[in-house]
Amino acid sequence: MSIILKNATILDPIIGVLQEGLNVYIKNNLILKVTKDEIKEVGKIYDMSGKILMPGLIDAHVHVTASSTSFTNLSRTPPSYITAKSIPILNGMISRGFTTVRDGGGADWGLAKAVEDEYIIGPRILFSGASISQTGGHGDVRKLGEDFIPADRFQIGTLGKVCDGVDALRKACREEIRNGATQIKLMVNGGISTPTDPIENNQFSLDEIRAVVEEAENANIYVMAHAYTAKSIKRVLECGVKSIEHGNLIDESTLDLLIKKDAFLTPTLVVYYAISTYGEKYNLSKNVINTAKNSFRKGIEALKIASIKGANIAFGTDLIGDLHNLQSLEFKLRGQVQSNIEVIRSATIYSSKLLQMEDKIGVIKEGAYADLIVFNKNPLNDLNILQKKEEIKAVMKNGKWIIKAF
Ligand SMILES: [Zn+2]
Repeated sequence: MSIILKNATILDPIIGVLQEGLNVYIKNNLILKVTKDEIKEVGKIYDMSGKILMPGLIDAHVHVTASSTSFTNLSRTPPSYITAKSIPILNGMISRGFTTVRDGGGADWGLAKAVEDEYIIGPRILFSGASISQTGGHGDVRKLGEDFIPADRFQIGTLGKVCDGVDALRKACREEIRNGATQIKLMVNGGISTPTDPIENNQFSLDEIRAVVEEAENANIYVMAHAYTAKSIKRVLECGVKSIEHGNLIDESTLDLLIKKDAFLTPTLVVYYAISTYGEKYNLSKNVINTAKNSFRKGIEALKIASIKGANIAFGTDLIGDLHNLQSLEFKLRGQVQSNIEVIRSATIYSSKLLQMEDKIGVIKEGAYADLIVFNKNPLNDLNILQKKEEIKAVMKNGKWIIKAF
């Protein structure tokens, strides 16, 4: 199946300007040509005059199976029901123009494969499988005083596995790698929505973290670590962790270290905004709501400094439950402290590099997957365009129109 998009204007995130009068030749799932010359190959022709094409977006921190705001409830829900409830979440993401997502815990091979085989309409999923947490860490869903043994067997939708000690961690990593995980998700710091782990606490010993990094590197993948505080981020960067998730409380010297290590920061501002604004509606505690407010304020400051320093900044959202529909609000929130092109780069070229898919996603060029979005207006002038469904005229993934309203 071949497609020719004629006379398109393309938003190239690398150079940061629009390029007019381009013809794109797509065969099967790939872009084979982007040229000003006439395309002589045979294919279905679409006249794209007056339309702007940009690469499909990447969200580098999602939980596609988190259909509830309670991970305790999710861990007690059958996998069949979890899978069914993931479908509208995935449909929603691709309708917003996200053609690739990286899942930070919960999605598994089966769900990613079901999307790949087109049983489910959604973005390509780079999954972690089970996130890995220590006892009492961010992935331990037991409430204070509960002492049942948390399941050491991961199933879709549970955030992850609880695991302690170097040997057990190596085995847990090898299980995820065996199942095709594209990265290992590790909880190395407390969080805001779990019962027993304050945000100030470091999690896992250095030996444990180093072992996980070694296992990931042996498999040519990397570790994405849930971390907020500068102290916690510093120790995991020193251990070789490449992807820092959230990072709201990072400081300047830790950002310098992140840059020196060529690691990535994936802020997820919208989740704090969402919990601050709608937390009461979902019966979240005052404490959680206040922590989210503070984390949002700090996260915006951190993003501003990281951007000025020129850090690798990926795009993440981390939304759960009904809040998933706020995904594209992340663009506008970042736009408060970053230029429009830098925000767009985070959801395209920076995230593609982090996901080890540089030149395959986040770009419209020869050899890349044919993932793109079509607008009538220019998102470089107004990030709100990315947030409005009526402005998205088409979404293509792997050379197939998912939405086409032109
Ligand atoms: Zn997350």
